[in-house]
Formats: sequence, C-alpha cells, structure tokens
Amino acid sequence: MASRVEQAVDKRVEQAIEKLKMTGVRMTPQRHAILAYLLQTDTHPTVDEIYRALEDRFPNMSVATVYNNLKVFLEAGLVRELAYGDGASRYDADMSEHYHAICEKCGKIVDFEYPALHDIEEAAQEKTEFAVHGHRMEVYGICKECQQVELSMT
Ligand SMILES: [Zn+2]
Ligand SMILES: [Zn+2]
Repeated sequence: MASRVEQAVDKRVEQAIEKLKMTGVRMTPQRHAILAYLLQTDTHPTVDEIYRALEDRFPNMSVATVYNNLKVFLEAGLVRELAYGDGASRYDADMSEHYHAICEKCGKIVDFEYPALHDIEEAAQEKTEFAVHGHRMEVYGICKECQQVELSMT
C-alpha cells in the first residue's frame, strides 16, 4: 500500500497535470516523470541532477529535454527557479511560501517555514520607490551532517 507521503505526492502530481492541461501543455511520459521527480524531492535539484535521476528510465532523454520541460513548468507556475549567478540553477516544485538554508560546505538547500517577510517589501518600496514584486531570502551556514564531519575530524 502506498504511504501517506506517496499519496500526497500523487495528489500533487495530479493537480500539476491538471494545471498543465489547462494551459494546453501535452503530457508525455518524460514530462510526467520529471514533474513527479520534482514533486517528490526536497533537494532542489539542478537540471543535471534531474537528468541523472531519470536517465536509466529514459535512455533517449537528453539534458536539453529536461531543461525544456523545466521551462514549461516555470511558465505554468509549477516550479520556481533558484538562480545563483554563474552556478547552475536549482528547481523547487514546492510553491508554498518558505525560505531556504544553504550549506556552505556541501551546497545542500534545506526548506524552512517562516512567516513571509512582507514588511521588508513594504520598506523597500518606500525607500527605493520600486514597484516591489517579491523577495528572496536565504540563510547560510554549515548543515548538521557537515558539522558532524567537522567534529569527527578534530
Ligand atoms: Zn553540508
Ligand atoms: Zn524550497
């Protein structure tokens, strides 16, 4: 029997597929697999990581296919892209309001919930006279696993 987590993911995949259908996007097995993978992971994978996770199942799939599908999902508002300057973008299918903690050692991104910081948007709007559309806030540090590695080395 499917676990509760699996059932929740299935539900989200179904809803995402419905949303894509409404925007006229055709569902292919690869597109379905990429979407399902993104919805069941919380690692914020890069294009390469998604590709490597699925290449066994879809030997004909290319990195470009993954990339193009991500663009479709972005346009449909199903994923968000976390761009890091020159580094590879990461993708997050959790569209709820949440923030990210990033490990400076291993690069892991961990979600955490915190009430959205709307005051900062208001303050920015007032001080800069920008029409503010949103914000991105990240905290940096060393994750628990990396802390333990550091401890075991001393
Ligand atoms: Zn780490
Ligand atoms: Zn996230």
